[in-house]
Amino acid sequence: MNFTQLKSGTSVEGEEIKAYKSEEKSESYNYLMAGVHGDEVEGVYLLKNLFDWLQDEDQQVSAPFIIIPVLNVDGYRAGTRTNSHGVDLNRNLPSTHWVSKARDKKYYPGTNPLSEPENQFLVKIFDKFPPKFILTLHSWKPMVNYNGDDCLKYAQIVSKYNNYPLVADIEGHPTPGSLGEFGPEKYNAQVLTFEAPLISENLTLENIWQENEIALKSLIKSDLM
Ligand SMILES: [Zn+2]
Repeated sequence: MNFTQLKSGTSVEGEEIKAYKSEEKSESYNYLMAGVHGDEVEGVYLLKNLFDWLQDEDQQVSAPFIIIPVLNVDGYRAGTRTNSHGVDLNRNLPSTHWVSKARDKKYYPGTNPLSEPENQFLVKIFDKFPPKFILTLHSWKPMVNYNGDDCLKYAQIVSKYNNYPLVADIEGHPTPGSLGEFGPEKYNAQVLTFEAPLISENLTLENIWQENEIALKSLIKSDLM
């Protein structure tokens, strides 16, 4: 599958935020993204492998995709969850439940919804190429978090192969200002928040890819895309 690079975004520190689009034109797109939290290298690694595979000419996928390999490029470089303003980008989107308070510093939502250039870039792409599905790759406790009944079928494909627990976002607003809230509200998009396990002495990035390769490829090859 051939991809073209879209006009890049710019982070707080002036770093380039890259995005790629497949050649297929569509009214709505499947987004594969990672690195919303800069210290979650596991998700970034999974997406890198998936993107390499998608660009391989031998595979048969032809659905419309947008790829954002690392959204929080400054946090990724610095090894921090938040961006360079100390903002949790997954609490900073302009959903109806956005709140200015956070129970912990690491969840600081910013001074206003959409105050951060990384999220401004993301929303600009969403507005130009509306999402119908968003897979956002994180890492924490392994789980597949889905944002409503319509999203369950996406989650089930993944969980069938990696046996990670399926977790529903209760009442449709799990995290104020998150993509799981904003995606459905603004674009009627299905949002799957995938939590990979964390690397440890006994678990390498390659191990994490191996235990998720079939699950993630199966989702991307499915007719839901
Ligand atoms: Zn995360």
